[in-house]
Amino acid sequence: MLPVIALVGRPNVGKSTLFNRLTRTRDALVADFPGLTRDRKYGQANYDGYEFIVVDTGGIDGSEEGIETEMAEQSLLAIEEADIVLFLVDARAGMNAADQAIAQHLRKQEKKCFIVANKTDGIDADSHCAEFYQLSLGDVHQIAAAHGRGVTQLLDHTLQPVIAELSAEAEELEQDDESLAELYLEGEDGEKLEDGKTGFEDKPVKLAIIGRPNVGKSTLTNRILGEERVIVYDMPGTTRDSVYIPMTRNEKEYVLIDTAGVRKRKKVSDVVEKFSVIKTLKAIEDANVVLLVVDAREGISDQDLSLLGFTLNAGRSLVIAINKWDGLDEYVKERIKTELDRRLGFIDFARLHFISALHGTGVGHLFESVDEAYESATKRISTAMLRRIMDMAQADHQPPLVRGRRVKLKYAHAGGYNPPRIVIHGNQVNDLPDSYKRYLMNYYRKALGIMGTPIKIEFKEGD
Ligand code: GDP
Ligand code: GDP
Repeated sequence: MLPVIALVGRPNVGKSTLFNRLTRTRDALVADFPGLTRDRKYGQANYDGYEFIVVDTGGIDGSEEGIETEMAEQSLLAIEEADIVLFLVDARAGMNAADQAIAQHLRKQEKKCFIVANKTDGIDADSHCAEFYQLSLGDVHQIAAAHGRGVTQLLDHTLQPVIAELSAEAEELEQDDESLAELYLEGEDGEKLEDGKTGFEDKPVKLAIIGRPNVGKSTLTNRILGEERVIVYDMPGTTRDSVYIPMTRNEKEYVLIDTAGVRKRKKVSDVVEKFSVIKTLKAIEDANVVLLVVDAREGISDQDLSLLGFTLNAGRSLVIAINKWDGLDEYVKERIKTELDRRLGFIDFARLHFISALHGTGVGHLFESVDEAYESATKRISTAMLRRIMDMAQADHQPPLVRGRRVKLKYAHAGGYNPPRIVIHGNQVNDLPDSYKRYLMNYYRKALGIMGTPIKIEFKEGD
C-alpha cells in the first residue's frame, strides 16, 4: 500500500514547487473532479527510491472566518485520508495569521503533521525558522523546494516510519503472494506449474470498480450484487478506505472493492464525501483487476485518462465499461464509438463493454473479461514458450541495425507476473527503437493470447 502525503499551506509558500519536484519522474495527474470545490493535484511520486501518492490541496485563503469552511471543503478530506500532512510555511515571509489558523486546525487532527519551512536558500535559515516553533507542531524542517535542498532528509524523517508501519501491516497479506511470485521466477524448480496454469486459482479476484462521480458505479455494484446468482458474504472489518465485498458468481470467488460506498450510502451526505480520489487510487493499488466505468454521454474526460494513467503505472489489469448505453440512437452510438477509439487508442489491450447498469444489459459479460484479464495477468508461461515466440518474432521481422550492427535477441525468460514480465537478453538490446519494442510486445500478446493486462518487457545486455 502506498503512503499518502498531503501538502497544505497558504498560497505562495511553494506547495506546487514541492509537488512538481516530488512527481517529476512521473506524470502528475490534475484531478478536477466535479463536486470538489477547487482543483487538487494528485501525483504518483517516486523520489530517491520512495514511492508514495502526493496531494497538493490547493492554497488556503487564510481569513480567520473562512478558514474552517475552506479547510472543510477542500483540504479536510485530503488531510483525513493522508498518512502524513506536510504543512508548508514560507521562511522568507515569516509567520502570519493564516499560518496560525492552519496550525490551530491541524493540532486538532489526529494526524502526523510536520512543519516544513520552505525557501531557506540564501538566508540564515535557523534564525528565520525559529518563530515557527510557536505553532506547536514540533520540529521545523528546513527545505528549499526550488533547489531540492532538504527534501530527501524530510522524506527520511517523515515517510520512513510510516512506510515501515504500512509494510509491517501488509507483510502478512503479501506472504502468500510472494511465495507464488517465486514460482514465476526462473530458478532450479521454475517449472512447478504447468504451462498455461494461473497462479491464483484458489484465491478470490479483487475487482475495483472505479470512475468519476455519477458514472453509475453504485448502480452497477448494486446490479451485480442484486443478481440472484451472486452470494454476498458477511464483510470482515472494513477499513477507512473502500468497502470490500466478498461474493461468489458462477462458483468463482471475487472481492468487489467498492469505491462508491454503496453499503454506506445512508451516511453519505454529499458528493465530496462520496467521491474520493485517494480512495480510488488506493483501490487501484490493491486490486487484481480494475473496472473503469465511464458515462457514455460524457465520453472520456481528462479525469478518466488520469485514472487510466494510474492503473497503467500500477500495472493493473483493466476492463472498461461504457455505461448508460441505453436509450441512445444509432447515430449517437456511432459517434461515441469513434470518439472512444480516438481517445483510448493507447490502451489497445483492454476490453471495452457497452452496458446499462440501470437495466442490467451487458453486465454479465463484464465478468468474462474480468476473468480473462486476471488469468492473463497470472498465467504461467514457460521459458521454452517465451524463447520460441521470441525466435518467431525475430524471424518474421528482424531487429534493426544499430551503428552498423544488427541487434540480436538471444534468450527470453519470465520475470514475474501481474503484470506479466518478460526478460529478453541480447546484443545491443538497450538500443532497440520503441517501434520494435512495441512490435515484440504485440507479438507476445497475440501468441500468448494475453488480454486485459499490460505486458512489460525488460531488456538485458548480454547472454
Ligand atoms: P504554492 O502557491 O504554495 O503552490 O506556491 P508555488 O509553488 O507556486 O511557489 C510560489 C513562489 O515561491 C514561486 O515564485 C516559486 O518560484 C517560489 N519558490 C518555491 N520554492 C522556493 C524555494 O525553495 N526557494 C525560493 N527562493 N523560492 C521558492
Ligand atoms: P456513481 O456516483 O458512479 O456511484 O453513480 P450512481 O450509480 O449513483 O449513478 C448516477 C446516476 O446515473 C443515477 O441517477 C443513476 O440512476 C444513473 N445511472 C446509472 N447507471 C445508468 C444507466 O445504465 N443508464 C442510465 N440511463 N442511467 C444510469
